[in-house]
Amino acid sequence: EGAGSDDRPGSGGIVVVIGSIHDDRFSYVDRLPAPGETVLAGSSDRGIGGKGANQAIAAARLGAGVTMTAMVGEDEAGLAATAGLAGHSVSVDTVGRVAGEVTGYAAITVDAAGENSIVVHSGANQALDPGAAERAVAQLPADRRAVVVCQCEIPQATVAAAAAATRAPHRFLLNLAPAVPVDPGTLRRANPLVVNLVEAAQVAGHLGVTPEGNNPRDLLTALLGYAPAVVITLGADGALIGDDSGVEHVPAVRPAEIVDTTGAGDAFVGAVAAYLASGATLPDAVRAGCAAGSVAVSRRGTATSYPDVADLATAGT
Ligand code: ADP
Repeated sequence: EGAGSDDRPGSGGIVVVIGSIHDDRFSYVDRLPAPGETVLAGSSDRGIGGKGANQAIAAARLGAGVTMTAMVGEDEAGLAATAGLAGHSVSVDTVGRVAGEVTGYAAITVDAAGENSIVVHSGANQALDPGAAERAVAQLPADRRAVVVCQCEIPQATVAAAAAATRAPHRFLLNLAPAVPVDPGTLRRANPLVVNLVEAAQVAGHLGVTPEGNNPRDLLTALLGYAPAVVITLGADGALIGDDSGVEHVPAVRPAEIVDTTGAGDAFVGAVAAYLASGATLPDAVRAGCAAGSVAVSRRGTATSYPDVADLATAGT
C-alpha cells in the first residue's frame, strides 16, 4: 500500500460489473438440519455476497477502477451492502433501490466438517433490467479499454443486453454461473466465457455437445464452437484456456493451507477482469486469476479473503 500504487497491475483498467448483490447470512452448526428439524447455530456471521459483488470487490482490491451496476431493496441490508461495496472502493452510483422488494439474500448453513447448504432468494436482483445494463455500457469512454463482467444471478435479458451493447475496445467477460441456458448471440460475444468444470459440463449439456467422458480438454473444445475464448477453472488443477491461438493449461498456485474454498471462482474472475482491463494478455490474466483463487482458499470468508497486489506477488505471479 502507499508508495508505488500507480504500478499496481490492475491500475488504469476500468471494470464494470453488471450483476448480483446478496446479503450473506452464515449460520455455523454442528450438523445440517434434516427435513422438519430445527438446529441451533453455535455462531453466525454476515457479509456482502453475490457473485457480482464478490467479483467487483476482487477486481477493486487489485487496483481496477470498478463500477457496480445492480439492484438492492429498500431495506437495511441494501444500505449495508451498498456501503460495504463503497468501502472497498467500488463505485455504487449505479446501484439502484427497488421499492417494496427485499435485497437478495443467501442463507448459508455450514456444519462442523465445512459442508454447507445454501438457500438464495434473488429479491431485488431480478429487477435489474436490460436498460440498466445498456446505460452502464454506454457511459464507458470510447477511447479507453474496459471490461464488462456479468454472471447469471440476474435476468438473462439483462446479461444479453450487456453483451450486445459492449463494443471494441471494450470486452465482455461472461461468467456463466450458475450455468443457466443462454442464447447463442450472448455466448458469441463472451471474450472470454469463464466457467468451472461443473458449469462447463452443464453448458455443454444445454448446447447438446457433451463430449464422451466429459474431460476438460474436450469440454473446452466443445465450448470453443460457441464462444471465441473459453476459460475452464479446475480447482486445485488450475485453469484451461482456449482461443484461436490454441489451448494452454495454467497450473494452480499451491495455497499455504486450505481454509475455505467458497468464493475462489469469484476471486479468479475479478482478478482476470482487472488484469484484462489493464491490458494483460488472457494467459497473464488467468495466471493472476489462479494466484487470486489460491489466496482466497487460504483464508476464511469470501470478499474479505480476496488478495491485493502485494498478496498476489507473494502467491507467485
Ligand atoms: P469455483 O470456486 O467456481 O468452484 P474453482 O474451484 O475452479 O472454481 O476455483 C477457481 C480457481 O481458484 C481455480 O482455477 C484455481 O486457480 C483456484 N483454486 C481453487 N481451489 C484451489 C486449490 N485447492 N488450490 C489452488 N488453487 C485453487
